[in-house]
Amino acid sequence: MIEALYEIGCIQKPDDFELIEGIGEGYKHVFKIRFNIDDLDSVSYCDINYEEYDKNKKLKYFYKADKGNGVNYTPTAKITDIEKTFHVKVLKSVKVFLDKNKDSFSKKDEALLNKINNVIQNDKDKILGDLISFVKSMDLSVAKKSETEIAVRDGGIITLTFIKDNTELYVGDLDAFKQIFSGREAYRSYYFKYGVESKSDEKQCYLCHKITTVLGFVDTYKFYTVDKKGMVTGGFEQKKAWKNYPVCLDCAIVLKRGREYVEKSLKFNRFCGFTYLIIPQLVYPDKDILQQLLKRMNNYANFSLNQTNSARIETTEERILGELSKEGNIVSFNFIFYKVANSAFNILLRMEEIAPTRLNYLIEAKYSIDKRNIDIFKEIPTKKEIIKFDFSFQFIRRFFGNNKIEGNYDKDFLLILSNIFTGRGISLEFLLNRIMSKIRNDFLNKEEFSFNVDALKAYKIILYIKEIKLLKGGMFKMNTKNGQYEEFFNENGIFDHDTKKALFLEGVLAGKLLNIQYKNRGAKPFQSRLNGLKIDERVAKRLLSEMINKLEEYKENYYRKMEESIGLYFINSDFAKFSINELSFYFTLGLTLAGQFNKEEKENEEVGNE
Ligand SMILES: [Zn+2]
Repeated sequence: MIEALYEIGCIQKPDDFELIEGIGEGYKHVFKIRFNIDDLDSVSYCDINYEEYDKNKKLKYFYKADKGNGVNYTPTAKITDIEKTFHVKVLKSVKVFLDKNKDSFSKKDEALLNKINNVIQNDKDKILGDLISFVKSMDLSVAKKSETEIAVRDGGIITLTFIKDNTELYVGDLDAFKQIFSGREAYRSYYFKYGVESKSDEKQCYLCHKITTVLGFVDTYKFYTVDKKGMVTGGFEQKKAWKNYPVCLDCAIVLKRGREYVEKSLKFNRFCGFTYLIIPQLVYPDKDILQQLLKRMNNYANFSLNQTNSARIETTEERILGELSKEGNIVSFNFIFYKVANSAFNILLRMEEIAPTRLNYLIEAKYSIDKRNIDIFKEIPTKKEIIKFDFSFQFIRRFFGNNKIEGNYDKDFLLILSNIFTGRGISLEFLLNRIMSKIRNDFLNKEEFSFNVDALKAYKIILYIKEIKLLKGGMFKMNTKNGQYEEFFNENGIFDHDTKKALFLEGVLAGKLLNIQYKNRGAKPFQSRLNGLKIDERVAKRLLSEMINKLEEYKENYYRKMEESIGLYFINSDFAKFSINELSFYFTLGLTLAGQFNKEEKENEEVGNE
């Protein structure tokens, strides 16, 4: 994956000040502490001045945050509380800048910065006083928790400006600040961390293969270093960090550009709620082909970001995978699912080198299970939308979601996804454990609509995983061809065992009985006999005779052949092979699909409408 980032970085235009950051949203006001620097011997504080924030002035404000809570790399700071921001960020900023970059300045620049620092220190009380009065005079002050804390309405920043020859210069206009960021010293963090320096001369760079100085802490994405064997924390080992992953400064900067491009242009929204990046990797590097490919992918990414219609969001993942699968096998794709929390980039899942043929296989499998002869997956129109049962990864997310009521199944979901993409088996019991617990919940809460939707979507998931040949467990062959329901069982390939068929038909019969009860009595008392949908051998066998008795009692037993079939399937059943979840699942499906099976025509008897 690192090579992929490198190749992408190689075709990005370099920017002289790529380390400088934008201020971001939510900062409307700029308060400028002005100094006169006409004469180096009499540098002096002038006053506070104001302008409205201008996003085109990024290279003038010259903002660069420190990752910790300390002083920023440059004197520009975002205001939290005016006094605190001034004391913590601004007051020491020039001194810290001098210390951090010592030996990197010309004599003249060093002298200038020292003078400016002296003035700030000497006049600090006056400057802060002026600043606070200024904000109050503009009526922008907002009192925070304590009376002494003052924030700025609509947000603001503090920066320094410098008057020379009647012109106002910004931080980014002064060579003293600028040249540090155009120079290589700015990349010190690539080899200096935890108070340890890690670099080595005359070594081969992993990426460009030049013999040069390699650096130890180029962690473009953390996993490159952490994943390598022998990466041990602790002072001495850190020093040798360059050995794990030797990259020269030039390549480190290229990687940084690559990462910036990817996060800006190849960010996709959202795979079942997850934000992710797709990094393409050409089998044979070629700048032109890569450029074209990036353009196409950027369009897909924009497409994914612009989906607002919920029905279309449902299928966005599949559409994008479909587009990518059309790329020839000159490329493979790396996926990074991530979350940004407290400005830290956390990788949740990465899948490397997924070939377009694999994506194509996964998409084709979806079409193949969506295309059916006996359509048991009929659309359900509701007031809000039409519920469709064409397979989508959202179906899996429906069961392995993340919400307050059901809990957080993010990890399980990502694991299933990763197994699907990389072709590792998925245990049926693992799926059913979660699926049945949701379905039982619907059942016990009498949520009939969710119950039906859940049962059908769950079934689609299992059909899909089976179709891509990753379903582990639950598949046995004990298949008596009974004639009557074989067309149905043939098309629904998971019914490959008489036990499953028996349970399914029992579910159908239960569905019929409940409908009859509802029709005659307006209630479904037999539901309480279904053991909360925990169907084991004992319950299954009890239910058959109970259901027959009930139907006979109501004189509405239109299903004698079905009952007979269940009895026959029972003879060949082997309950020990199946978990309760599995047995219950086949029963549930029958319950949901009862409407697919008609009343049996009896000889010499009129069959009324149901
Ligand atoms: Zn290199």
